[in-house]
Amino acid sequence: MATEELRRQVVIIGSGPAGLTAAIYTARANLNPLLIDAPADTDRQTTPGGQLMITTDVENYPGFAKGIEGPELMMQFRQQAERFGTEFLEEWITRVELQSRPFTLHTENRIVKADTLIIASGASAKWLGVPGEAKTPKGFGGNGVSACATCDGPLPAFRNKRLVVVGGGDTAMEEATFLTRYASRVYVAHRRDKLRASKIMQEKALRNEKIEFLWNTELAEILGTHEQGVTGVRLRDTNSGAEKNFDCEGVFIAIGHKPNTELFKGQLEMDAVGYLKTNGHSTATNIPGVFACGDVQDSVYRQAITAAGTGCMSAIDAERFLDHLPVEMPSGEEVTIEGEHITADRKLIIEPTGEVISNEVA
Ligand code: NAP
Repeated sequence: MATEELRRQVVIIGSGPAGLTAAIYTARANLNPLLIDAPADTDRQTTPGGQLMITTDVENYPGFAKGIEGPELMMQFRQQAERFGTEFLEEWITRVELQSRPFTLHTENRIVKADTLIIASGASAKWLGVPGEAKTPKGFGGNGVSACATCDGPLPAFRNKRLVVVGGGDTAMEEATFLTRYASRVYVAHRRDKLRASKIMQEKALRNEKIEFLWNTELAEILGTHEQGVTGVRLRDTNSGAEKNFDCEGVFIAIGHKPNTELFKGQLEMDAVGYLKTNGHSTATNIPGVFACGDVQDSVYRQAITAAGTGCMSAIDAERFLDHLPVEMPSGEEVTIEGEHITADRKLIIEPTGEVISNEVA
């Protein structure tokens, strides 16, 4: 079977708020972006539209005074990107080659060549895989079980309720502390007797009178009914193996996130967890012409609005790069599409030939 080849100035990977914002901006800049996203797959945890597609009420996205459902918000993003001519392709990308421009992306049926690449492939919350955790109607996901306190904590279902948070890292401390604003009591179930979280985050949680720690405790099952949602959990003592039922009305799984960066291993610089490295002032990665935005490069804020913000930044960075203007790299130096390097102090230009010239106006 012949493999179709496409070539675009801008290719975007991912259709969450970051990818779609990058699409809106680059489409309005007449760059005819192609947005590639993985098809929906429960086992591989992929949903076109990203994590907001599995969120119910979004109350903190500015511009929607009465709140909006996550899937409806993403539909609006998508229609806005379509309105300006974004082209969509729903296929698995199997391999990328970023060593030379145009970059090459292999999908099952196509080869896609890209002058610039915007990576917005997102991150996935890690789940325990215990009974009761799956999305409704299989389990209680979205009906008392969540992996995002900022998104779901303020919902009426969790107000003045007993909530269990699972995990012992910074995410668990942050989520537990945040949830004390609404819950009657927050129980942190951690599988060891020592937290992994940083000292300051631990201390804040340990000092909070509304938080109680359940040490050496594993979550074995989430209990409930489809009418009432979550009514309790089955906990297991990790030392003795003894199990007991524990009443609660909500469960927050806070055992970390996994950025979707497998495809780029060995080609793009990442931190120890796998988040793509960008420099904060721009969304440039270590390869000129490859930009990263949203949860794939942000382990700290992880909000729809911050993802959309960095999506806008990456579109502007790609536009500048295609316009032959310098873009700042994670190292602090700037590069152009022609391969000129401007030193971090902005004083020298190193030409692709190696010639060094002054960047200062005579
Ligand atoms: P993390 O540091 O990897 O911690 C994950 C926690 O979940 C650990 O306590 C781990 O237990 C537990 N866990 C993992 N798998 C589990 C399982 N299957 N069953 C039960 N427990 C399990 O992840 P994170 O808390 O998301 O933090 C990730 C990075 O983001 C860190 O660098 C963190 O500092 C940063 N972060 C910073 C902030 C902030 O500063 N505001 C907020 C959030 C995250 P063990 O300890 O036994 O391994």
